[in-house]
Amino acid sequence: MSDTHELYFGAAYCPYAKSGDISPEYFERDIAAMKKLGMNIIRPFVAWDRIEREEGVYDYGKLDLVFDLAEKYGMKILLNLGGTLTAWGGMYPPRYIVRRAGVQELELKPGEKQFGPTHHLCMDDPYYFERAKIFLDLTAKRYCAHPALGAWSLWNEPFYHGDGCFCPLTMARFRDFLREKYDNDIAKLNEKWGTEFPVDYLDFDEAEPGVYVSFSGGGYGPCLDYLKFNRSRVAGWLKVVRDAIDRNNPRGLRVTVNVAVTAAYRTSWQHGHASMFDQNSLVDIPGYSAYTFYGMMEEAPYLTAAANAWCRSAGKDPKTGFWAVEGEAGQISYFPDRQDRGERGWRIASNWQLAANGAKMLMFWKFGGRVTDLQTDQYNLMALDGSVTERAELLSASCRAFLGLKDVIADSCVHAEAAVLLASDTELARICDKTYKEYVDACHGAFRILNELHIECDFVNERLFREKRGRYKVLIAPESIFLNGKFAEELKRFVADGGTLITDYRFAQKREDSFQFQTMPGFGLQEAAGISINDFTYAERDEVFAVADYPAVPLKDLFRAQLRLNGASSLADYVHGGCALSVHGYGKGKYVCWGFSPFQIFRAAKSTEQLGGIREMFRKVCAEAGVVSALEVAGDENFQLQTGVLCRDDDPAFDKVCFLINFCDRELACRVKLPPFSSCREVLSGNKIAENELDLAFRPYETKIFDCRTGKSR
Ligand SMILES: [Zn+2]
Repeated sequence: MSDTHELYFGAAYCPYAKSGDISPEYFERDIAAMKKLGMNIIRPFVAWDRIEREEGVYDYGKLDLVFDLAEKYGMKILLNLGGTLTAWGGMYPPRYIVRRAGVQELELKPGEKQFGPTHHLCMDDPYYFERAKIFLDLTAKRYCAHPALGAWSLWNEPFYHGDGCFCPLTMARFRDFLREKYDNDIAKLNEKWGTEFPVDYLDFDEAEPGVYVSFSGGGYGPCLDYLKFNRSRVAGWLKVVRDAIDRNNPRGLRVTVNVAVTAAYRTSWQHGHASMFDQNSLVDIPGYSAYTFYGMMEEAPYLTAAANAWCRSAGKDPKTGFWAVEGEAGQISYFPDRQDRGERGWRIASNWQLAANGAKMLMFWKFGGRVTDLQTDQYNLMALDGSVTERAELLSASCRAFLGLKDVIADSCVHAEAAVLLASDTELARICDKTYKEYVDACHGAFRILNELHIECDFVNERLFREKRGRYKVLIAPESIFLNGKFAEELKRFVADGGTLITDYRFAQKREDSFQFQTMPGFGLQEAAGISINDFTYAERDEVFAVADYPAVPLKDLFRAQLRLNGASSLADYVHGGCALSVHGYGKGKYVCWGFSPFQIFRAAKSTEQLGGIREMFRKVCAEAGVVSALEVAGDENFQLQTGVLCRDDDPAFDKVCFLINFCDRELACRVKLPPFSSCREVLSGNKIAENELDLAFRPYETKIFDCRTGKSR
């Protein structure tokens, strides 16, 4: 079995998924340099188009060389086996497949022909698929027993192009998907698809997918089905790779995947929506391309923390943590207009933040080693001629320190007792109606509130909530407009059994098929909520949310609802009257509802000092549910400090490792109360700590790590 108590530091290296690798004569020089920098793992790609140039003729020479050199230098390989972006085994199919008469090309619009030197193939082409399966098995078999192989990666940044493929093969598969879903009864499809305009198909072969919801385009049904179909296609590709590994994995090495955040958040027009949670349901340890997130959002450390939590939460067992399969190594930032991200302090702090959120691998894009076209002179850890750069020395120093924490963090993980719901029905519907960004913003806003309270927080969808429900005392459901009845029942039971559910006015507004309830929350949840809502409107210009001792928060330009109390009590009223925040005891738990979206307020705020009243209400509600921070921080008025607490063996009663990261280019002085300990050491300085309460001074971007031992163990 693979070593599950290992920490890894490494970089992507040749062979890459595209043409233009450096000559193999330099491979040994580079791998020796990696070893010298302290790396213990290398991530090469399987470049199918260059291994099998003609059908059945294979040349694995370059990949063999990397494996043998890794063994020679005592390093492991994380092999990216399955594919890259939207293609099997690299970014480009072998030419003999592309040349084959009748092979199906990708059609980004129905009937659209590709033009130019590179033609993308449709993943549903049967010949392409058969050859890929043979190649996957052959490759997995070739390397599965190699002593250097340390772990497998299913795929690099899986997504689908644009809105999907509209070729005849894919459309036939989509129609089969519909037949199965609607029991081969076209009347059932007509009913579910005909919510905006009547749909009156006579046969499934007439059905055409929807790509967005609009006045003229149509309703949710056709879009939701097409999105679900496309998501299942991507997950299906990964499943094929997983099966090939399972047939060829005698040592039971662990499997991960490199999920692109740009696809999972659907922030790039060209990256179809591939789910972080679906993809990571097929692996042993969740993985993601952390740096794809860095350029997408404004400077905000809580957002990188949220992305880490999102990946980490996808795991079956919190103890495994997660792998950062791609961090940013190079001199060029993912978005070149974001120079701050290229700053050494920011990079090092973001690496420590990964560790603080439970990462067990810090892998970087990329070491260097490409010589043609795009990214050859970008994202390199090393200088163009292969010599060691200053940034490589700096990265090496911090990653060596990370590897040095093996005895402290390898068996420790984030133990979150609060979670933010990413409801998949809401997620999909809001992709369809093009309000997905607002939805993700609300979820990030919820995460930010807990982040500022230093409360550890997971993200869950319905499946993960079901699997890990026993862990959570608090579930926050931001703007979960679309839900399904079965899950709504589970939430009701969660509250009845003692959980605290925190929602806003938009919760359970519609069924998953877009049916609108006349009073909300729907699905009979009003009994648990103790309130009902039948309307919402823009707040008056001078409307505010106010609680004692804190500045009033303006609600101008925000929607707000009157919460009609049917058993619940008001925790705060609007200045113009009516309940703005309600709480209701139901069974052994509580249902808390906001009349507006505090999540959007937090997400939009550049600075949140003025939002103390909202934050304080969350602190109070969480504390009453038994969810408190393991750390107390005073004096950090600008919320510069990012923290993370890892618990030994996933048990908060045992040893804790506390990360405190001054994620800012300014100095910080604050007072911190650590969790109780019998002995404590500041890991990076080696200093012994005697007192729980400490006055700490941080340099810009400085990280301090406290190893708090309780002396207790299982
Ligand atoms: Zn197709």
